[in-house]
Amino acid sequence: MIRALSSRIANELASDALDQNLRSVIKDAHDYLYRIWTQDLILSCLLRTPEEDKALYHDPNHEPGVHCFGRGADVSVRFMSSAEVSGLCNTINSSWQYDPSRPNMVVALYESAGHQDSTAPHIHLQTHPATSRIVKIAADAVQA
Ligand SMILES: [Zn+2]
Repeated sequence: MIRALSSRIANELASDALDQNLRSVIKDAHDYLYRIWTQDLILSCLLRTPEEDKALYHDPNHEPGVHCFGRGADVSVRFMSSAEVSGLCNTINSSWQYDPSRPNMVVALYESAGHQDSTAPHIHLQTHPATSRIVKIAADAVQA
């Protein structure tokens, strides 16, 4: 089950403001957690206004981030083990490419509370207009 930490987040999840690929990433993250760990996925943030985004960052030159464009989702890790956190990130990042022109950037990343701009530990999921699912071809489908 995908759970939202507030009615605001539940409404955002049902709205058209979310990027379609982000929806698919959220579903994949849920499917992994449920299938492997029988856990719910808990969303702690989806959309932010530019003002809310700016208030979270310590950098006065901070540009509005992906949460302002329906391309960011935060997953609470409060009830997740470190194996679940790393498994979820690895599953998403082996299935999705964030931006082919910036291969160092990923769709799923863990942000610990030690990060100065992070309020509580969470997994940040993000998409870009160039984000795409990595197509895997099963070995038995390849003709020699
Ligand atoms: Zn985030």
